[in-house]
Order: sequence, then structure tokens, then C-alpha cells
Amino acid sequence: MSYQIAIDGPAGAGKSTIAKKLARKLNFIYVDTGAMYRAIALFLIRKGIHAADSSAVEAACQEVEVEISYRDGEQQVLLNKENVTGLIRTEEVGNMTSAVSVYPAVRRKLLDLQRALAAKADVIMDGRDIGTCVLPQADLKIYLTASVKARADRRYKELLEKGQKPVLAEIARDIEERDYRDMNREISPLKQAEDAVYLDSSDMGIEEVIEAILKIKADR
Ligand code: C5P
Repeated sequence: MSYQIAIDGPAGAGKSTIAKKLARKLNFIYVDTGAMYRAIALFLIRKGIHAADSSAVEAACQEVEVEISYRDGEQQVLLNKENVTGLIRTEEVGNMTSAVSVYPAVRRKLLDLQRALAAKADVIMDGRDIGTCVLPQADLKIYLTASVKARADRRYKELLEKGQKPVLAEIARDIEERDYRDMNREISPLKQAEDAVYLDSSDMGIEEVIEAILKIKADR
């Protein structure tokens, strides 16, 4: 049996940075499930489909094929065979993703792929519903969160470094909206699994969080 680590939590808590580094340390595969949802959202944006149009979203799902591959240890997301890894990190795609990941057809599309990846190798998988839905039997579950302020500050700095001109209040509002949608949707809402360890990274550096998770794992 493969060893499975599930890391769930809201946007901007540091899940992907931490999961990626942990995977390298442990020689596990890192699976970023948000990227898969983002690929579907990109497809819908390109088709000009409105997030509120549930039947159009559902119909479009039949035309989407999402695959994952690895290049130099980095996850690549393929959308109908096109590598879209570099195109899915925008705010537009992020907001569309959160709006359409409420639909059962979208979630169904990705569930089997995620479970198949976890069955093949030792994995660290991050997302919103990994510990609660995708891998309920995971060996270690972490619920990683941080205050809205800490998450907005981090995102603001990231965007500044990319040469953009972000507005802090807008970022905080987007984060709050996304949290609300992710936590209140009917299917697979973001919530802490009963057996997950809660970690608040607001006042912790990346290395500190990694050390904390390694210690939790070692103490098992
Ligand atoms: O983690 P990331 O910010 O890339 O996720 C983008 C969006 O994808 C989330 O806001 C959430 O709505 C959705 N998502 C999800 N379930 C997952 C991973 C992501 O619903 N397992």
C-alpha cells in the first residue's frame, strides 16, 4: 500500500509550497488537485461558458480530458493533451475554478484520476476535500490554514514580485469570497476531517510548518 498524506485548507495557506517541499524531502509524488480544477475552469473560460450556466458546464465536462504528468519532478497538467500548467495561475482562472468546482459533473470528472494517482505511489495530495472525500483512509491528514490577513498579505507580495499592481483590499475580498464558496458548497465542502491535524500557519514560516508536519508524521 502506498503512503498517503492529505493536506487540505483554504487558498493561500501555503499548502502547495509546503506539500511540494515535503514531497521532495520524503521522495513522495506531489499531486496538486487545484491545478486539475483550474484546467477545467480554463477550458470553460475559453469556451465562453458562464459559471452560473450549470447545464452548459455539465455538457462541456464531456469534452474535457485532464491528465497529469511529471517533468523534472514538477507536476504538469494537460488539458485535452495541451500542457496548460503555465496558464492556470491567474486570478481570473482561480475565481472561475472556485465557482465551477461546486458542480457534481466537474468533481466526478477528477475524483477517479486523483484516486488512481494515490494508489500508484506514495503521495502528498493537496486540495479542499482530500482528507474528507478523495482519500478518507489517508495515513496522515493535515488541515492547514491561516488568517485572511496573513493570506492576503502573502498573495499581495507574490503579485508585487511578479511586477503586477495588486490592491490588498481586493485580494482580501477575493479570498473571503472563495473561502465562503469552498466551505459552503453542497458537495465536498472544505472542512477539517475529524482525524486531521489542525495547523495555523499565520505566524509560521514555511520551514517551520514543514518541520511541524514531519514531527507529526514521525510521532505516529
Ligand atoms: O488550490 P487552488 O487555489 O489551486 O484551488 C482552486 C480552486 O479549486 C479552489 O478554490 C476550490 O474551489 C477548487 N478545488 C476544489 N477541490 C480541490 C482542489 C481545489 O474544489 N480538491
